[in-house]
Amino acid sequence: MKEELYTIPVNEAFDKQDECAFCALHQKLEKDILDYVMGPSYMEEDVRGETDRLGFCEEHYRQMFQAGNRLGLALMLSTHMKKLRADMQKLLPEELDAADSGRRGLFKKQEAAGPFVQYAQEVEDSCYACRRMAGRMNSYVDTFFYLWKKEPEFRQKVLSGKGFCLKHFKRVMEEGKKRLSSAEYRDFLKQLIPVQTENFQRVEEDVDWFIQKFDYRFQKEPWKNSKDAVERAILKIAGVNVGEGEKK
Ligand SMILES: [Zn+2]
Ligand SMILES: [Zn+2]
Repeated sequence: MKEELYTIPVNEAFDKQDECAFCALHQKLEKDILDYVMGPSYMEEDVRGETDRLGFCEEHYRQMFQAGNRLGLALMLSTHMKKLRADMQKLLPEELDAADSGRRGLFKKQEAAGPFVQYAQEVEDSCYACRRMAGRMNSYVDTFFYLWKKEPEFRQKVLSGKGFCLKHFKRVMEEGKKRLSSAEYRDFLKQLIPVQTENFQRVEEDVDWFIQKFDYRFQKEPWKNSKDAVERAILKIAGVNVGEGEKK
């Protein structure tokens, strides 16, 4: 069963007791995929073929560039550009033909997007990394429910953890509804809601303490857990990791 394949990474992510274990899994996956794409082992034809076809989204181009491996990135870009140019050379004359027939009044002026515009839209919307990550995240969610049902220790780990970000809390609710019986789903929610709300409030209090610390009357007080409260609050709300930042 494919759920069993990922019990180790999922268990490990929940062991770490982060603000959201799914965000931590997502982040690790993202790093692994981007490292692989730019890494020395990136020679396999099928992967090359896929990155050539799909390219990357804005966010992942940015991350790959910031990772600093300019040569690895150049190698990927080189074959991706060759594929794009070959496609453009085929599709752009078709756009011109369509415009010509429109001008000669042979056909009604076409309102629908032409072949190149459609193609460029597809390139814009596709990302090799996003696609790979979505597939693997689905398997992690499968594994999460597999472990929730089968392993009491895992369930306990989730319940003594820090809950999820809102995005992944929504995700486990949606998936739980599909994967659990109605009695199981009710039980799942009943156990998880207090974990989620208490931990959300904990981060909120950390943010409030962070603000207090800027008041001179509290200057000498300890920071408690508030030094990275802003980063953790953004993660808790939006599932976005803004990085380490400058700690107060
Ligand atoms: Zn998350
Ligand atoms: Zn992407």
